[in-house]
Amino acid sequence: MAEVFADLVGQAEAVATLRRAADSAAALLRAEAVPATGAGGPAAESAAAAGAGMTHAWIFTGPPGSGRSVAARAFAAALQCVHGTGCGACPGCHTTLAGTHADVRLVVPEGLSIGVGEMRALVLRAASTPSGGRWQVVIISDADRLTEAAGNALLKAIEEPPPRTVFLLCAPSTHPDDVSVTIRSRCRIVPLRQPPADAVAEVLVRRDGIAPDVAGWAAAAAQGHVGRARRLARDPEARQRRDAVLAVPRRLTGVGAAFDAASALIEAAEAEAAASVAELDEAERAALQTALGAGGTGRGAAAAMRGAAGQLKDLEKRQKSRATRAQRDALDRALVDLAGFYRDALASALRAPVAPVHTDTAALAEAGAQKWAAEGALRRLEAVLECRGAIEANVKPRIAVEAMMLALWKG
Ligand SMILES: [Zn+2]
Repeated sequence: MAEVFADLVGQAEAVATLRRAADSAAALLRAEAVPATGAGGPAAESAAAAGAGMTHAWIFTGPPGSGRSVAARAFAAALQCVHGTGCGACPGCHTTLAGTHADVRLVVPEGLSIGVGEMRALVLRAASTPSGGRWQVVIISDADRLTEAAGNALLKAIEEPPPRTVFLLCAPSTHPDDVSVTIRSRCRIVPLRQPPADAVAEVLVRRDGIAPDVAGWAAAAAQGHVGRARRLARDPEARQRRDAVLAVPRRLTGVGAAFDAASALIEAAEAEAAASVAELDEAERAALQTALGAGGTGRGAAAAMRGAAGQLKDLEKRQKSRATRAQRDALDRALVDLAGFYRDALASALRAPVAPVHTDTAALAEAGAQKWAAEGALRRLEAVLECRGAIEANVKPRIAVEAMMLALWKG
């Protein structure tokens, strides 16, 4: 098995930092294992020296798909590695990467935000002594989706960390909108960059066994998003959805067509989101009903039913929040694809020596460039980016998309 950082695509600098930290962390554990000869004795001194590259709180930043959570998980594995290197083969590495290590907790928000209850429970468990004798690791995969109260609960833990606990936060950036200034000030930051298309293609070929020509096309079309590239290479439905989005520019022939295109885009995002959460929703509902003993009779059944109604309502609320999030994510992917098309048109109008994002619509983008010139292509690109920004700022998606389609049609 490859060492734990092998799947971190095009991130040499970050990997070097994390390896150094893992080395320091391992040295720290070794130094602590030596019986101390008293406060300030040689063991304490060497422990301090050994820990120089390690710290208890980290933030991984980078654009979506750059591998923030992959990096966090790989680092967690390196910390739990029984050899202290992230060998990828020992039980520590293996169980961490598989998500079953007892001392590694991963928080993946399913709704639009991570709540305070979830965070408090997590912080409490993170304070316990690591059962494997190494580190308690908490990975928060979208720290930008913490509620303010949850952020405060986390901050308290980071300010007064238990001795063997490590927090790994992932966020798009260290902007105050994503991570509070006080949390940020207590963390070491590991910036990840958008991996180059050839590095993404290489990992698709090596790790996923995808044919080189398909991998090359998918890596370019996914604009540095590793997971998206893999989906495009493997999933025909994902390819169809992308084709439909890239057909939008040539369908914008009038006001009516612009509104139709807006409806089609919104409905496609809704359908994609519904398909992605339906199975999970049903499984959760069935699991909850089983846990609540649906159909049970006898003493306490009436009281249980009253409690059950509340729990079912809670579940429905969480599922609704997750569905909204899935819709936004699907719509955002579509907008990123569309932005890529107008970026190609702009590059073509400027005769910029860069490879197109969408090789399969490059000719169309070129035709657009001739019609619109650089200014027109730029205005259209900005209309797509503005639409993304508006949705991010909670403008109703339909309104934002309609405004964008009109702008794309009028230029
Ligand atoms: Zn290992």
